[in-house]
Amino acid sequence: MAKLGIVIPAAGQGKRMGAGYNKQFLTLMGEPMLAHTVRLFEQSSYVSEIVVVGAEADVPIIVELVHHHKFDKVKICKGGVQRQDSVRAGVQALSSAIQRIVVHDGARPLLTLEDFHRFLDETEKFKAAIMAIPVKDTIKQVHETGKVIATLTRERLRAVQTPQIFDRAILAEAHYQAVSAGYYGTDDASLLEWMGYPVQVIEGSQENIKVTTPEDLWLAERILAMREARSSTRGVGCTMEYETRSTR
Ligand code: C5P
Repeated sequence: MAKLGIVIPAAGQGKRMGAGYNKQFLTLMGEPMLAHTVRLFEQSSYVSEIVVVGAEADVPIIVELVHHHKFDKVKICKGGVQRQDSVRAGVQALSSAIQRIVVHDGARPLLTLEDFHRFLDETEKFKAAIMAIPVKDTIKQVHETGKVIATLTRERLRAVQTPQIFDRAILAEAHYQAVSAGYYGTDDASLLEWMGYPVQVIEGSQENIKVTTPEDLWLAERILAMREARSSTRGVGCTMEYETRSTR
């Protein structure tokens, strides 16, 4: 297997959270959200290196967090104005031995090791692949005046998550071409799509939410509490009603 590196963009301002500081440091079950995200990759034996991309002002806090948790695969680098700039910086910070890259948002702290390893397994033969889930709502495209332009076919729609995995050469090329052309996408796969590269979709998990608003933080706490309850009752004859991957 090619050497795997992880880029964790965590340099956003988190304005929609309204916390007044970077949402990656909000606590979930008593620990910063970013610590949950990084720990998953620290624990995976498939991961050689992790780059956490932080806003310049947050770098000392991230250094402290990495030190406190004894994360020993982590390098820290400074992010950019847009998420794409942050990921580009993270890719450049990985050592040259890394040939496969996973990008995973710092704000998605609920990815499980089981889902991550399933993702690695199912994406092995693809140069670019992403996690996504079917959408539950009907999605309409609307004009800025509010008038409906079209109703999209729900069966064909997917809500895209991270992790996203790429051969390093392709991801680096896509970022290089995009920055040269001034093209910005909201995820990394969209840069490859823009260049005409195929991107494979792998089924994600409903629990792998991006923590963006205070409601998401509440939900993330509930999911973690459920998991903790489930693991503490495992083996003593209790069953939990809650299903982890409700899309399955
Ligand atoms: O803004 P959005 O919710 O899409 O951000 C997704 C992830 O990208 C978050 O973890 C955020 O911290 C990160 N990000 C970044 N640099 C930016 C903007 C966002 O690393 N300039």
